[in-house]
Amino acid sequence: TDKRIFNFNAGPAALPLPVLEEIRSSFLNFNQSGMSITEISHRSSYFDDVINDAVDRTKRLLKLDNRFHVLFLQGGASFQFAMIPMNFLSENDTADYINTGTWSTKAIKEAQIQKKKYCVVASSEDKDFSYIPNNIKFSGNAKYVHMTSNNTIKGTQFQQFPDTNTVPIICDMSSDICSRPLDMDKFGLIYAGAQKNLGPSGTCMVIIRKDMLDAANTDLPTMLKYSTYAYKNSMYNTPPCFGIYTINLVLKWIEQEMGGLEKMEQYNIKKAGLLYDFIDTSSIYKTTVEKSSRSLMNVTFRLPSNELEKKFIAQATEKGFGGLKGHKSVGGCRASIYNAATMESITALIEFMESFEKENT
Ligand code: PMP
Repeated sequence: TDKRIFNFNAGPAALPLPVLEEIRSSFLNFNQSGMSITEISHRSSYFDDVINDAVDRTKRLLKLDNRFHVLFLQGGASFQFAMIPMNFLSENDTADYINTGTWSTKAIKEAQIQKKKYCVVASSEDKDFSYIPNNIKFSGNAKYVHMTSNNTIKGTQFQQFPDTNTVPIICDMSSDICSRPLDMDKFGLIYAGAQKNLGPSGTCMVIIRKDMLDAANTDLPTMLKYSTYAYKNSMYNTPPCFGIYTINLVLKWIEQEMGGLEKMEQYNIKKAGLLYDFIDTSSIYKTTVEKSSRSLMNVTFRLPSNELEKKFIAQATEKGFGGLKGHKSVGGCRASIYNAATMESITALIEFMESFEKENT
C-alpha cells in the first residue's frame, strides 16, 4: 500500500482501502467456498447471501421502506437514460427534465431519440452550467421529473431537491449516491453507476418504487423492462457478481466504519469545506461555480493560465496526486472527493497546492 497514490479520479474512483484489503484477502477462497467470488455461481447460496446483503444494506442506509426495490443492472448510468423514457412514457405522456450539464443533456437526448414528449423545465446552460437552477416551475402533468443531483463534470450539486408536488423525481445520483441521507418520499426512481461512490464500474444501482414499476410499459424487450430485474432479484440473467459483491463491502464500510449516512455527510462537508476554504483564500486557484451550488463530491477549479494548469497537473502527478485534470470537455482542474477520499488525502492536496502557489506567484 505504500505505493498507492492520492487518487482524485472522477470515476472509476478511489475505493476505501479496507474494502480493497478485504477483497484481496478473500479473493482466492470466498467464505470457505474454495472458490473466488469471480468463480462462484450466481445461483448458489453463497451469491444469494451477497446480493441479499447488498439489498438489505442499501435499504437500511437509505431508510427505504417496503415500497422500494433495489436492483443491480448493467450498462452503466447511460443505459438508464434510455430505459427511463422507454419504461415510463406512453404515447400521450410527458416528462419534465432539468438540464444541469452533460449528463442531464444526454438523458434528455435519449427521450428525444425515442420521440417521447418532454419539457426542459429549467436549465443552467445560459451560464455554462455553473449553477443549480431554483424556483423551478414544473409542468404539473408530467409522469416524472428527471434531474442529475450532482454534476460530475462542472462540480455543481443540488443542496435540496425541488418540490415537484407529488410528481415522482427520477434522479441520476451516479456521483453522490450514499454521500448523504435522502428524503425518499420525493423519489420514484434513483439510479447510479457504481464507479464513483459504490464500487467498480459495470454495475448500476437502481432503486425503484413499486407504483412506478406497476405503471411501467409492458410491451418492451425483456432486458429493457425494470420488472424483469425486480421480479428476479436482479438475477433474470447472470448479474455483475463481482460488482455487487464489492458494492456490498462498500456499503458495509459506510455502515460499520463510517457510522451511516448522516456521519458520512458530515465527513464529506468537512472534507470539501477544507478544500473550498483554502481555494477561497488563495490568489491563484479559483472555483468555477456559484458558491451556493458547489458540489461536495467534485471540486472544480482553475489556475490563471493553461500553462500553469499544465504545470500544476504535471507536478501533482509527480508528487503522487492523481486524477486532478478536469474533464476534457471543460478543461481546468478537478478533485473528485467521494466518500472514500480520506481527510489525509485532502490535507496533503492542500499542502501541495499551497507550496505550488508560493513557487508560482
Ligand atoms: N451520470 C453522471 C452524473 C456521471 O457522472 C456519469 C459518468 N461520469 C454518467 C451518468 C455516465 O455513467 P456510465 O459511464 O456508468 O454510463
